[in-house]
Parts: sequence; C-alpha cells; structure tokens
Amino acid sequence: MDFGYAPRVQTLRRQVQDFLEDYLLPHNLQWHRAVADGQFPLQLMEDLKALAKWDGLWNLFLPELPEDAPGTRLTNLEYAPLAEIMGRLPWAPEVFNCNAPDTGNMELLNLFATPEQRERWLMPLLEGEIRSCFAMSEPDVASSDATNIQTSIRRDGDAYVINGRKWFITGPAHPNCRLAIVLGVSDEGEDADPHARHSMVLVPMDAPGLEVVRNIPIMHHRAAEGHCELVFRDVRVPAGNLLGDEGQGFRMAQARLGPGRIHHCMRTIGQCEVALELMRERAMERRSFGKYLSEHANVADWIAHSRLEIDQARLLVLQAAWQIDEHGARAARTAVSGIKVVAAQLQTRIVDRAMQIFGAMGLTPDTPLSYLWTWGRAMRFLDGPDEVHLRVVAKDEFRRAREAPRGATSQYFTLEQDLRDTH
Ligand SMILES: Cc1cc2nc3c(=O)[nH]c(=O)nc-3n(C[C@H](O)[C@H](O)[C@H](O)COP(=O)(O)OP(=O)(O)OC[C@H]3O[C@@H](n4cnc5c(N)ncnc54)[C@H](O)[C@@H]3O)c2cc1C
Repeated sequence: MDFGYAPRVQTLRRQVQDFLEDYLLPHNLQWHRAVADGQFPLQLMEDLKALAKWDGLWNLFLPELPEDAPGTRLTNLEYAPLAEIMGRLPWAPEVFNCNAPDTGNMELLNLFATPEQRERWLMPLLEGEIRSCFAMSEPDVASSDATNIQTSIRRDGDAYVINGRKWFITGPAHPNCRLAIVLGVSDEGEDADPHARHSMVLVPMDAPGLEVVRNIPIMHHRAAEGHCELVFRDVRVPAGNLLGDEGQGFRMAQARLGPGRIHHCMRTIGQCEVALELMRERAMERRSFGKYLSEHANVADWIAHSRLEIDQARLLVLQAAWQIDEHGARAARTAVSGIKVVAAQLQTRIVDRAMQIFGAMGLTPDTPLSYLWTWGRAMRFLDGPDEVHLRVVAKDEFRRAREAPRGATSQYFTLEQDLRDTH
C-alpha cells in the first residue's frame, strides 16, 4: 500500500498552495471587507478565476470532465489533497471552479442533462460564467428525508408549473447565480411510490414567480453567496427543462450527493489544519502561571489529539475517494456517509479546542475560528444530518452480521461452564 501522493498530485499541490499564498491570501482582507459591507466582490473573484483557469487549476473535481470543457481531469483520490488546500480559505474553492453547490450540480448535469441542457447550463457552469443552486430543503417538512419534499411540479401542456417554498438554499445571493435545480413532487397520486414521485426541473433564476425572500444567517454569519429562502409562485418553465425522467428526482438527488458530499470533507481537513496551526502558534507564544500554554499538559494533549484525529480523518477521506474511483459512488455509499459524520464532528471539536487556547479572542471575527466552528456545525446538517449517515453505517454493519457464517463469532467465547469441564 503506497501512502504517498503521485508525482502529478505533488506538483499540483504545490501549484494550488502557491496560488493560494501568492494571489488569494493577499486579498483576504479586501474579500472580508466587501462581504461585511453586504457586497459580493465579483470583480476580484472574476480576475482570480481567469488567472486560475489560465494556470490549468480549474474544474479539478470532475473525473469525467467533458472533452470540450476547460480544466484538468483528476480522479477523486487525486483531487482530495487539492481540495484540502482550497479548504484552508473558505472563499478559495470558487476561484478554481470547485465550490459547492456548483460542483454537485455540474456532476448532476453531466450525468443526466440533454444535449440542449448541457449547452445552455453545463458548459457555462464549467466555464465559470454562471453559478447555480440546488433547491431541495423546505421549511414545512423534515428535509433529511427527501421523500417528504412537497413543492409541486405540475405538467401543464408544454410546460411545468412549480409552486412551493424552499430554504437554506446555498448560492442565490451570488450575483452570477442563474439556475436553480428544483426537486419537487410530479406525481401527487395517493398510491404513488414515495421513491418515484419526485422530479427535478431546471429553473432560470429570473423566471417570473421565483422570489429570493431572504439570505438566512447561519449563527449570525451571513454568507456572501447566501443560504436563501426561495418562493415559487406559479413558476412556468418549458417541458424541456425537466432533468432526467419524471419520477427520477429522488434517485438523481442520491446520485448528486456521492462525490459532492466528500468534497466538503476534503475541505474540512484543510480547515482543521488551519485551526491546529493557529493553536500551536498561540500555545507557544502565550504564557500563563509562569509557563507557555504549550507547557500545560492539557494543552499539549489537545494539540496531540488534534493531529491524530486530523490524520485519521484524512485517511478516511482518501479511502472514500478511492472507493468512488474504483467501485462507483453507490458502492462507496457507506464510506461516504462515514466520513461525512467524522469530518463534520472533527471540525467543531478541533476548532473548539483552538478557541479555548485562544481565550476570548477565539470567539471574535479577528481569527477565522468562529467562522470555521459555525461552518463545522452547519456541516452536521447540510448534505444530511449526522444521524441519517450513522444509520447508513449501522445498516451496513447489520448486513455484514447477517452475511457472516452462522456461529462464526461464537468461537471467541470461552464459557465459564466449558472452562470448568476441562479442569
Ligand atoms: C449552511 C447550510 C446550507 C445548506 N444548503 C442547502 C442547499 O443548498 N440546498 C438544500 O436543498 N438544502 C440545504 N441545506 C439544508 C440541509 O440539507 C437540511 O438542513 C438537512 O437536510 C436537514 O433537514 P432539516 O433541516 O429539515 O432537518 P430535519 O429533517 O427536520 O431533521 C432534524 C433532526 O432530526 C433528526 N433526524 C432526522 N432523520 C433522522 C433519522 N433517520 N434518524 C435519527 N435522527 C434523525 C436529526 O437529528 C436531524 O438533525 C443547507 C443547510 C445548511 C445549514
């Protein structure tokens, strides 16, 4: 088993790291100033995107990149260490056209779009000319169970008519967001199969009747691209805007969340590395009760545990990425669910330790910690809450138990009575 990164990946890692340090970090303050003023720094983003595209650091997330699309084709395993570096700076992934939710949407369109839909939506997304959102979650139903989704998608002649309310939809506040991929019910029959009654339609963001009601703050943090509430009132789109087949919405939503889910986990590793670097530095420069913080045993333990836990999580991310490459997203489902739980919980745990070491300053926007904690907490819901993913992992364990030869584990027992018999 070779744990080293391939030479090509090592070169790309250096390139992405250098790009981040040379071109992005010098603009970090400018970025945050604009966002604090309620502006999306579009020109800065577009200039940096052009530079990244020119450097070939573009669309690195998509192994099946269409031949006529710009970018570098990588496997998920090769992409993981690059996403880790991008994750270090929360606004960096878009610069490389590797940000959620567009990556998941591009994967979905690449799998299911018609030639016309590819031309109109996928190619501009791959070029970075437009942005998109994925509208599934709704305020009135438990959205961790996609079969609950209620928004209605009704066929009317040569059009679909959409009515419903969505929330926590990432992306609509981005000035270039042009497309919503909407999941809704297309078969309202009472005896319809709950896994075959939903469909997806492609809705232009400027469609009459589509309103962005608000950008919902996440623990007082208002994202520049938005986590928005949307209302659809008699929104009409041509029938040709159906993605895939009618009734396939649930299945496509599952397909979308394969690789897309582990991209967040890859970035988490980078964010946890930043938190660990900050806590190391702080612990080695600040003194209390006659010692450096690093000399207090509990602080040293927190730092050591953080290193071990990040390295464990990185191995799980790489293993899940490898499984997707080798066996496909469906076969990797348990590994993906597993790392989704581990990564989200890791981020809040490690950032919490870093905050503790920083003292009160750790809670302010002066360090990136409060944002990183907030994002880690959100990760425990987005793309499915921990509990739903744990259920997938547990199911797989019970399947193994059912498939194991009967009585195989009983050989490990040494019953007290049997011990007595032999003596
Ligand atoms: C920052 C952020 C961005 C998001 N972006 C998007 C987006 O772009 N598009 C989109 O459609 N949605 C998005 N979401 C919404 C997210 O996908 C949902 O919040 C998530 O699916 C959970 O749905 P819910 O909030 O309705 O929780 P519910 O489904 O109401 O669940 C509440 C709780 O019930 C428990 N629970 C649920 N099911 C089970 C189970 N099977 N076993 C045990 N316990 C269970 C869990 O503890 C869960 O946290 C985003 C959310 C956040 C926070």
